[in-house]
Amino acid sequence: VRLPLAAALHHTLVKPIVAGAPQPPFAASTRDGYAVATADGPGTWPVVARLAAGAAGPPPPLDRGTVAYITTGAAVPAGADAVVMVEDVDFVFGADDDAAAAAAAAGGGGAGRAAGGRGGSADATVTAVVVKTPLAPGTHIRPVGSDVAAGEVLVPVGARLTPAAIGVAAAAGVTAVTVTRMPVVGVLSTGNELTDAGGGGGGGGGGVGADDSPPPPAAAVLDANRPTLLASLAAVTPACSSAAAPAATAAGSGGVIDYGIVRDEADAVAAAVATARDAVDVLITSGGVSMGDADHVKPALAAAGTILWGRVAIKPGKPLTAATLGRRGGPRPSSPADDGRPTQVAVGLPGNPASAFVGFHLVVRSAIDVLSGGDGAGLPRVDVTVGSGAGRGVARDRGRLELVRATVAWRDGGCGGGGGGGGNSRAA
Ligand code: AMP
Ligand code: MG
Repeated sequence: VRLPLAAALHHTLVKPIVAGAPQPPFAASTRDGYAVATADGPGTWPVVARLAAGAAGPPPPLDRGTVAYITTGAAVPAGADAVVMVEDVDFVFGADDDAAAAAAAAGGGGAGRAAGGRGGSADATVTAVVVKTPLAPGTHIRPVGSDVAAGEVLVPVGARLTPAAIGVAAAAGVTAVTVTRMPVVGVLSTGNELTDAGGGGGGGGGGVGADDSPPPPAAAVLDANRPTLLASLAAVTPACSSAAAPAATAAGSGGVIDYGIVRDEADAVAAAVATARDAVDVLITSGGVSMGDADHVKPALAAAGTILWGRVAIKPGKPLTAATLGRRGGPRPSSPADDGRPTQVAVGLPGNPASAFVGFHLVVRSAIDVLSGGDGAGLPRVDVTVGSGAGRGVARDRGRLELVRATVAWRDGGCGGGGGGGGNSRAA
């Protein structure tokens, strides 16, 4: 899709961003000072012009034996080949401003301009400066194209647009870019025991020094997974953090749809999956994916698409299920990645909050990455040295990848792991 540059953060480039013009487009001063001809050498030279950044058109050429006051970023005039810093010259002041202006207006056959440049003292006009040492040609000048040559690839195909890349593109005059769509992600929880935790402020009250919450209704379990998953989406894929507005979705900007809590009833789960199937690229469910008679997610995914796998040899996370979904109306005209990969996937995460959290990071974030044009690399891997005590007492389950909680800290340039163990179902 083609998006305005400002809307393309995090999207993956389908076409490279190429510089249409050199940067800088003109030789520019990198200092506040005086433009000089190095061939003039040291001496006392009259200041004949004031050249400020942003002046329209190229500056008038500089005559030999004269200098021009110049600000950082201003175009260096023809005839000048170096800039001497304002700190490195001595000043010659006019008798007073009126006299200096009168003298300049009188012209005397020279450049005929009022001298620019203010010295350090009072308001007296600098009429000439003393250049004390010879300068090498090019001193304090950024040549044309020294940052970027015309035609240079600024951001390559396949790169994700970072804030810095957006800055580079904007500086090159780019206002729209061709990028992959971001997926629309749907999230739902299943479970008759679940109550919406809300989380929208209010409530609570009275806690001293802590954000206490009112006790949930007896026998209810507050829905922890949806808030966790929605927040994880915001952290991992910021473009998938806002509620999916239809216009933004149509434009390919991605977004999130919160399908709430669905009861453990075959029809309710099937209806929710069918609804989501028509709106999302990735559906994330939690709970109801095991083999109990209240677990309706697997049959619903099988009815709406094709199960890829129904269990994984990972602890926690055994019943984690993945499926492709087929939209009732057939595939979308513009899929995020037109390369034959399935464009719609569903991941049924186990309800245990720790399992759901782990499953999101092991499976869902890679799926979202692939669907938004990335390589699906997922979480970064680091080698750690396991500290004393850590990892002991963890009963190994042979034949399964076992994931344990750990605290990792940088120490002496490496990663050290500690803590670990713990079999509760909290996600952190
Ligand atoms: P399930 O995978 O549906 O069998 O659920 C496994 C365990 O996780 C049960 O104790 C559920 O109550 C709990 N659980 C399921 N979904 C959630 C959720 N969204 N938030 C918190 N706990 C949950
Ligand atoms: Mg359940």
